[in-house]
Amino acid sequence: MRGLLEEVEEFEPRIIELRRRVHEHPELAYHEVETARLIANRLKPLGIDVRTGVGGTGVLGVLKGERPGKVVALRADMDALPVQEMVELPFKSKVEGVMHACGHDSHVAMLLGAAMLLAKKRNDLHGVVKFLFQPAEEHGGRGGAKPMIEDGAMEAPRVDYVFGLHITNRIPSGSFGLRGGAAMAAPDSFKIKIIGRGGHGSSPHETIDPIFVAAQVILALQAISSRMIDPVKPFVISVCSVHSGTKSNIIPDDAVLEGTVRTLDDATRKKAVSSVRGIAERVAKAFGATCEVEFMKDPYPITFNDVKVTREVAEILRKIDGMKVVEMDPILGGEDFSRFLQRAPGTFYYLGTRNKSKGCVHPNHSSKFKVDEDVLKYGSVSLASLALEFTKA
Ligand SMILES: [Zn+2]
Ligand SMILES: [Zn+2]
Repeated sequence: MRGLLEEVEEFEPRIIELRRRVHEHPELAYHEVETARLIANRLKPLGIDVRTGVGGTGVLGVLKGERPGKVVALRADMDALPVQEMVELPFKSKVEGVMHACGHDSHVAMLLGAAMLLAKKRNDLHGVVKFLFQPAEEHGGRGGAKPMIEDGAMEAPRVDYVFGLHITNRIPSGSFGLRGGAAMAAPDSFKIKIIGRGGHGSSPHETIDPIFVAAQVILALQAISSRMIDPVKPFVISVCSVHSGTKSNIIPDDAVLEGTVRTLDDATRKKAVSSVRGIAERVAKAFGATCEVEFMKDPYPITFNDVKVTREVAEILRKIDGMKVVEMDPILGGEDFSRFLQRAPGTFYYLGTRNKSKGCVHPNHSSKFKVDEDVLKYGSVSLASLALEFTKA
């Protein structure tokens, strides 16, 4: 892949400048207005057809090659996080309490870099490349992939392959991380309301204490991982919020628990969801309380990377000089890139940015998260390479 690596040198300063601009002006989920404007303004002069307002604040770029071929979509998410940046940089976030702590600023810049590379190669390009600049990946509930799909981003022309790249601190600079099959979890959020009967703290026998019942439920839920789920299947359950009560001598009427269940396969997922319901309802009943269990509707699906395509991607990325390809373990985070993968085969892969000498040691989502900018050009080259190879397929 010597060619693209030489060509990207011309664009590298622009890729870094773009990343810094987006970093300085982070925007939260579905508020990516300026980011979208910047993207559209950079795509148009490249001769790329641009549609804005796709699924909210999304931007869709379409580059048609001169030769017939397949349709490949490349995706970058654009949103920032509600985190106060704690890194001193000349281009530190100018927005109080908002930061690109997951590196989506670099995703935007790398995909624009890939667009610059591909636009220059239009004469050799087969098929069509679609650039999906997606809003609101971090939204959790209503991620931006779904509205973009509903807005037709994967159709007309229909996408044959889709690729997404995430920068990560889990692997060192100079490496790509790949995983075929289930790579990221389905994040199922739940809310359990335990309804008891309040009264005086001195007379619990006259009440049904929902806090006591909530405590039993929290403990019993952990039995799902130790006693109910196949121990070789990845699974985790965490209760992350507990709300009840007002004063030290009042037993309240109810208690509310919120938490998350993470699984990597459908059977385990089904079993986990029904176990949460069953345990909460039966434990509550045992102590005379009732409960309402709600799971968030339509959560992000399991991120399933096509095994064959991922193998082909590994071969392509291995040819990029100076870069290694490593196999990743699955992680139990969620990603709405999974929704694009339900429409077309592809893979969600990683670009390492861990670099001790540059202080890039803190994980994604940390207020001290820092990107090693020297890796960005490799991200652009990788995306462009996948587009060039898979459009030929
Ligand atoms: Zn994130
Ligand atoms: Zn992210």
